Amino acid sequence: MYRADENVFYLCKLLTAWIYYNIKNIKIKIKSIILLNVYYGKRGLIFKFFFGKVNFMKHYCIITIGCQMNKSDSERISGYLEEVGYKEEKERNNADLIILNTCGVRQSAEDRAYGLISRIKKENPNAKIVLTGCLSERNDVKRRLKEKVDIWLPIIKLPELSVKLGIKGKKFDEDYLKILPKYNNQISAFVPIGNGCDNFCTYCVVPNARGREVYRQSDEIIAEVKNLVKKGFKEIILIAQNVNSYKTHNTQHTTHNKELKDIYFVDLLKMVNDMPGDFWIRFATSHPKDMSDDLIKAILDCGNVCEHVHLPAQSGDNEILKAMNRNYSRDQYLALIKKIRKKIPMASITTDIIVGFPGETKEQFNNTKKLFKEAKYDMAYIARYSPRPGTAANELVDDVSQEEKKAREDELMKILRITALKNNGKYIGKIVDMLVEGKNKKGELYGKTVTNKVVKVKSRKLKVERDRIGEFVKVKILNVRDFGLEGVILK
Ligand code: SAH
Ligand code: SF4
Repeated sequence: MYRADENVFYLCKLLTAWIYYNIKNIKIKIKSIILLNVYYGKRGLIFKFFFGKVNFMKHYCIITIGCQMNKSDSERISGYLEEVGYKEEKERNNADLIILNTCGVRQSAEDRAYGLISRIKKENPNAKIVLTGCLSERNDVKRRLKEKVDIWLPIIKLPELSVKLGIKGKKFDEDYLKILPKYNNQISAFVPIGNGCDNFCTYCVVPNARGREVYRQSDEIIAEVKNLVKKGFKEIILIAQNVNSYKTHNTQHTTHNKELKDIYFVDLLKMVNDMPGDFWIRFATSHPKDMSDDLIKAILDCGNVCEHVHLPAQSGDNEILKAMNRNYSRDQYLALIKKIRKKIPMASITTDIIVGFPGETKEQFNNTKKLFKEAKYDMAYIARYSPRPGTAANELVDDVSQEEKKAREDELMKILRITALKNNGKYIGKIVDMLVEGKNKKGELYGKTVTNKVVKVKSRKLKVERDRIGEFVKVKILNVRDFGLEGVILK
């Protein structure tokens, strides 16, 4: 469906009024008014017929499935499409162009994409469908969806989208990460520091889907952050599949980095931290094999860097870790946790775990349970193993039943609730900084602490506090739950 720019509609309304008052013949009058008011007709033909080369504005809708990196990519797709003349439309059935940013990390995410495409085809059959993200380079997916998808777009090919859409005259840099994003909110922004992964964990589709690791130049990242801070953003989240392997050659010898030859993640973190402004810095994800003492020290020393480490363990059993190609042992992982807790006692630690990896016995799973109890996580994303085409583990038999995977997930969840609640207990009566992010349906403000804990504000002065969204405030914690805190704003 095509929809004209608001100005064109305004013009048509005026024209309708003009016809109404000026044409005397009632038949011509009615016919003209009907024609002009017909719902802009199939593909805007009626408007085109009347106005010749009217510049019809097309509308896009992006549907994002998956991780932070996909969310961030969608912001770049948005920025790009607006640059080539499209306008955002939240309701997918009103859009001319639908971009489905897919995730292939688990079968469930893949199935969501299939379901969505079928629904879109039924509800908005004239829309063009662009498929990007994890599934865009899978040949089996291309065969399955060849009738339904109009444009296949691996995200690094984003700069070529205008050509595929038949738009002439716009040139873009070859590197899609250089495209200016349209951020989803005004408080918190993802800033990708690179793309891809070289680790080849045997269960994981990311190295195939996103390709090898490529990192952005530090000056480009700094410029993006500077712009965000200037606009008033309060939380900068540096993201990559494995931030710890960030490395670029120093091309700009500024006061920050003139003695550096190569720039590593810790250097980048310090550079971002040293920028003037009142903002927090988060980063994800850290691969345990690459988490250095320098990074732990940097979290402690850099005033703007939040005390939260997301450290995916994936398993607590050495044999499974080896079969996963994670390159660390259970003891090495636990030693790392111990070190972080000792150096940064208030730090919260979160993780990703996979249950039911091929061949995972009850005993091996018990080792993961023990790891859970020892690590005392604040939060964990527990996934049931899902065989992925093109990965090394796909050659192994997926022999742990769905029921057993679910039971193992539940067991870990139980432990997590206990450790998280206990960790949160330390906050009772404490005064902590919080970034106010929004308000819930009841009108209560909510936000996050530096340790990434969600806080709900209890207050009767809702009207006054509503204005504080996007601000740092002090809250006194009065109550805790397993995955959240409750408190009152002090100032
Ligand atoms: N780069 C990050 C995570 C990327 S994928 C890291 O190194 O940890 C996000 C999470 O999805 C992974 O941490 C893992 O727990 C989960 N995951 C990846 N592949 C999976 C699979 N085949 N089955 C189930 N969970 C999977
Ligand atoms: Fe996947 Fe492993 Fe790379 Fe994370 S580190 S993206 S789990 S291959």
